[in-house]
Parts: sequence; structure tokens; C-alpha cells
Amino acid sequence: MRGTILTSFVIEHQCPRCGGPAELEETDRLFRCTFCRAGSYLCVPDFFRYLLPHKAPAGKELLYFPYWRFKGMLFCCVPGQIANKFADVSQQAIVSHHFPFSLGFRSQTQKLHFASGACEGLFLEPHTAKADMLAHLNTNFSAKLPKPILLSAQIGETYSLLYAPFYLESRLMDAILNEPTASGTAEQIEPLLQRAQAPDWPVTFLPTLCPQCGWDLDGEKDALALSCPNCATTWMAEGRQFKQLDVLHQPNPRPGVVFLPFWRIEADVDGLILNSYADLVRVANLPRVVQPEWENLPFHFWTPAFKAQPQRFLAIATQVTASQPREEIATGQPPGPAYGVNMPAQEALESLGLILAFSVKPRPRMEAIVRNLRVVLRRSILVYLPFVEGPHELIHSGMKLAVSKSLLSHARNL
Ligand SMILES: [Zn+2]
Ligand SMILES: [Zn+2]
Repeated sequence: MRGTILTSFVIEHQCPRCGGPAELEETDRLFRCTFCRAGSYLCVPDFFRYLLPHKAPAGKELLYFPYWRFKGMLFCCVPGQIANKFADVSQQAIVSHHFPFSLGFRSQTQKLHFASGACEGLFLEPHTAKADMLAHLNTNFSAKLPKPILLSAQIGETYSLLYAPFYLESRLMDAILNEPTASGTAEQIEPLLQRAQAPDWPVTFLPTLCPQCGWDLDGEKDALALSCPNCATTWMAEGRQFKQLDVLHQPNPRPGVVFLPFWRIEADVDGLILNSYADLVRVANLPRVVQPEWENLPFHFWTPAFKAQPQRFLAIATQVTASQPREEIATGQPPGPAYGVNMPAQEALESLGLILAFSVKPRPRMEAIVRNLRVVLRRSILVYLPFVEGPHELIHSGMKLAVSKSLLSHARNL
């Protein structure tokens, strides 16, 4: 795989209210202006597109070449093992040997901007779709693994398109370094210029005001769900507006309780009957004797709605799914401090096959089940589960689940 570590980068922009300068991290969604205090929530229809700044001489027409940027954990279930690998790469979104194969360190030393309508230049249209990019990453990852590939999934990923600036003299010039690229004459580049597109990718800055009562919504800067401290509602951006999110919680009157958010997911799994807790015990071959009342306990997948290091994320999801929290569940926001939601349900859906892969025993049986597995989301709902805070861990005694506090803080940098 050609590509270089990008880690994370900084995006420069301006407050939509007062024009004050601001810097964002890649995972930031909620932005609060340090000048006018106005809160905005960043929305795009699909994914973020960024520009690398150029140092081209004045008057040069810039052409922007797209690179896919992917950062996340790849999982691959093959006979005998579930392999994983962290990937942090940039790769060409147009296959061309005239342009650098990856961004290298360019995006680490530069402050990026949103690629939007106001940008001038010729934007080359990507030839490689996001799905192709992921397939390519998975192919490279699985090249040395045993075959067949039973299941591939990505967890905790961010992906975006980064546009790097170039311009033409007699040769193709790198407009960041202001020097010729290793290959590429103007004539060789010309055919690519036929497929350019306008940078019609607006970033919407939604004011963070509660649609129900007008109060300022609360959330961490990477929050996907915002809460209203005034009318106790929860909101999630959808398109260019906030939609109210149904929220449940498991009450716990003990002092020192903090709540962690989970997605409780109803999904159809092709070829498997997974309607009740009893079904799960049978499918996964859990070391438990099926009790008659378990036939009536509905089965749900459970995944963290917070980011965690991917192996730990899957271990927690597998454990909570095996436990099927079934104490009383109440509607509404939890009555106490809660961790923020920064893992989307859609992405959590990717992990369901892996949860089965980790749950089902013995291995040959698991391999038969996850091969060609198809999972279709029916419904997901946000549920806050109560944990008692210890010095280093948050503990849910009912499930005997401990989540390390450092896991929660480190995961922010994923
Ligand atoms: Zn401002
Ligand atoms: Zn409100």
C-alpha cells in the first residue's frame, strides 16, 4: 500500500456569525466561537472535503488533485483468525503516475481549509469511489492472510477527500513545494483536465439552538448527539437540521453514577434466527442453559456509542450483547453526568458481523455463520447505561463490565 501516516490535521476557517478566525480538528463537529460565543454545528451531506493551501506564484491557474484519506481500524475474519490493522493513509482518488502517489507529510505541516464554493481552481473529479478505496485497503491488508476472506469491516474510521494544489508550466508543478513533480509534462496532464468539477460542496454551520425551546445545545466538540439542558431533549443533525432523538436510560439510584451511551440495535441477520435472548444463547453457543422466559426476551445488538480503541470497542460490544441489559429501562435523558455520543449508529452497524464473529463458538461454526453474512439495520436507539465511577474504571456491576477511564479519554484522539 502506498501511503504515509497523516495522523491528524488542523482546519482553518471563520466563524459564520462574526467572521472571527478559528481552527478545528478533523473530528470536530461542534464549534464555539471564541469571539462571539456563537455555537455552530458542522454538516455535510456525505463527507468532508479539504484543500491544502498553495504557494503558487500569483496568476497561476491551480488544479486540485484528489486524495482519499482514511484513518481507522481494518478487521478481516479469515479461517483461523480475526486479524486487525490500524490504517492511516492517503491515496490517489485518480490513478495517475504523473501525480505523487500519496500526500506524504504535506497535510501534517499545512493548515487545511474546507473545499467549498468560494474556492478557485480546477477540481479534478475522483475516479475512485469510496467503496473502491476501502476495497483496495482491504485487499492490501488481506494479501498475506489465509483465504477465503469471510468478513471485512472497518471500525472507528474517518475518511475524507483532500485536494492538493498543482499548476502547469512546461511540467506539472507541485504548488505546495513550488517545484516540479517527478513526472508529468503539461501534455500528459491535459487529458485529466477534461474531467473537472466545480467545488460545489457547501459546509453548513447549523446554529446550536434547541429547535424546541431555543436554548443553547450542549455537547463535546466531536459530539454527534447534542442535548438541551433546558427541555431535556436530545438532537442529532440530519441533512441541514436537527432531528429529535429518542433516548432511553437504565436508572441507578447509587451515588457516583455516570452514564455511558450505547446503541441498542435491531437488525435482521440473513440466515440466522436471532429474535430472543434464547436464540442468541443457541446461535452463539453461550455456556448457559436456556431458561424458558428467555424465549420472550427480545434480542438486540449493543455497541458503544462512544469511540474506543477498536479491539476494546468490539470486546465491550460483545460483552454487552451477551449480557442483554434487561433491567428496567426508562425513557428520556439520564439523570446524571453522561459521556458524549461520538460513534454513529451507522458505523456501529459495521461491527455487528464482528460481534457475531467474536461471540459464536466453536470457530468452525462461527466461520460458517459469518461467511457471506448480511446484516440489515431495522432500528437503533440510544440507551444510557449506568456505571459506578472508581479511581481508574467505570463499572457496571450487573454486567460485570469495567471500562477504563483512560480508554475513554485516549479514544478521543483516534
Ligand atoms: Zn464568532
Ligand atoms: Zn430545549
